Order: sequence, then C-alpha cells, then structure tokens
Amino acid sequence: MRAKTYVIRPFDPWRGKLCTCPPKFSFDPYTGCGHGCIYCYASSYIRDFHHCRPKEGLIKKVKHDLERLPKNCLISMSNSSDPYNPLEADLKITHGCLREFLNRDLRLLVITKSDLVTRDLDLLLELRDAVTITITALDKDLARKLEPNAPPPSKRLDALSKLSSEGISTGVRVDPIIPFLNDDGLDVLLREIKNSGARHVTASTFKPRWDGWRRMKEIFPEVSLKLEPLYFGAGERVGRGYHLPASLRFRLMKQVADECGKLGLTFATCREGFPELKTSESCDGSHLIK
Ligand code: SF4
Repeated sequence: MRAKTYVIRPFDPWRGKLCTCPPKFSFDPYTGCGHGCIYCYASSYIRDFHHCRPKEGLIKKVKHDLERLPKNCLISMSNSSDPYNPLEADLKITHGCLREFLNRDLRLLVITKSDLVTRDLDLLLELRDAVTITITALDKDLARKLEPNAPPPSKRLDALSKLSSEGISTGVRVDPIIPFLNDDGLDVLLREIKNSGARHVTASTFKPRWDGWRRMKEIFPEVSLKLEPLYFGAGERVGRGYHLPASLRFRLMKQVADECGKLGLTFATCREGFPELKTSESCDGSHLIK
C-alpha cells in the first residue's frame, strides 16, 4: 500500500529505535498547527507548518480509508498537528471526522492541548476512545511562552476533570520536560493531574531539531546557553533529534515515575528508553481505551 495516498496512515516514527508505540494508525485532520509550540518537531518536516490548513476533500478520504482499515485498529489523532487547534472551533473538521468514526470497529486515542475537546464529549462517549492532554507547566506565563496559542494549563486541567467525570479515560503527556525551564515543580503538576481524574502519565524530555532549537534560543536565550553543552556536548544525536545525556534523562524520568507511583498514576516514557520505569501496558496511553 502506498502510504502517500491515505490520510489515515500506518504510524511510522522514522523507525525510531527508542519508539515503543504499539502498532497503530496516525491521523491528522489538519496540515500544520496553530498552537505555535516552540519545542514542536513537526515544524521540521511539514512545509509551511505554522499556516494551519484543512485538508482538501478530507471527509471523503476518511470514509475511503476507514473501509480499508483492519478491525479493532488503533488510530492516534494527532501526531503532527493538534486536532483541536484554534481553527477547529469554527471549522469543526475534527468533529466531522469523529462522526465518521461512529459505528466503526476502531479504537481512538485523542492527543491535544485544548479544552475544545470537551465540545465533542457526546461523540467521544459513543466511541471506544481515550483522551490524552499535554500539560508541560502549571505556570500560565511559562506555558504561554512555550505554547503561545494553546489554552492555558488551568483550562486543560478543567477539561481533564470534565472528561474524566463523564466517564472518558484520560491521561496526560508531560512532554517535553526541559531542564532549567519546567523541571521544577513537577510534583505539584502531577498532583493536579491526579486530582483531575487522569489515570496515566507519559513523559518525555525535549529533543530539539534545528528549527525548534532556533526558537528556543530566541525565546529563552539564557536557558539555551545552559542547555547547549548538554545537548551538543555531553548529549547524543538520535535520528534527527538531539538528546540530553542518558544519565540526566533517566534522572528526570525517574523523578516523574516515582511521583506517579506515589500518586497511583501509571507511567511510561516516550522515546527515552528506560523500560524499567514503565508501569503501564502501553507507552502512549492507548491501554486506557476500554
Ligand atoms: S500542539 Fe503539537 S503539533 Fe501543534 S505546535 Fe504544539 S507540539 Fe506542534
């Protein structure tokens, strides 16, 4: 099958050696993303990324692809954009796609940074799904710098509470963790996550590509000076991304894993290695789907 002709495609993170995701399909209702996260890596491989736009003839293509998917397949929405990016409030493209998913034999993992996902609660309750919301910091000013156009962390926590209390399984991506920026106060963040009703945390460290690193230097010049020797001296390059030294990555991940253990949250890392820290069936939160 030629992946290029499909909008729901086999997930293939560049055959990354650290990826432990279960077999799944990847679906992005939009091309590009309007949230403007400075650490985003999708901007390094999608043309004109910050100009978020709908896909031509999407619903027709979704219908076509759904006919060809294996039974009980897992669809991850989205990996290279946010299905609830600011355009979605008016365009309702993701909403239309959820309608197409109804009455199909599939499992859906929604990944977003927006409380707009609660608008679709009625549809989510009819599907076999789980929702993971990314929260990288509780401090709204820091979050605004990291993710300028995404809703503030308080709204994301409210969304988790709403979804969880209505019976949707939820998890949180604490991703990325960036030393000197958001690695302080993770215990407080994790307590808030627990209080929201979420059951699982996936954590990962910042793994910059060149354009993300450029944005980091522009927005956080002093922090970048401290990070530079860690990424480009003591660290290592894996694929197209730069990684912190393994010892530091392990320390950060263990800190989150230990805290999750105390709180009764399951835990996994994303593309870090360290399988010994994993306490959940899946790394991506798909095990939350009933
Ligand atoms: S929400 Fe995700 S895809 Fe969109 S800019 Fe942020 S990191 Fe990139």
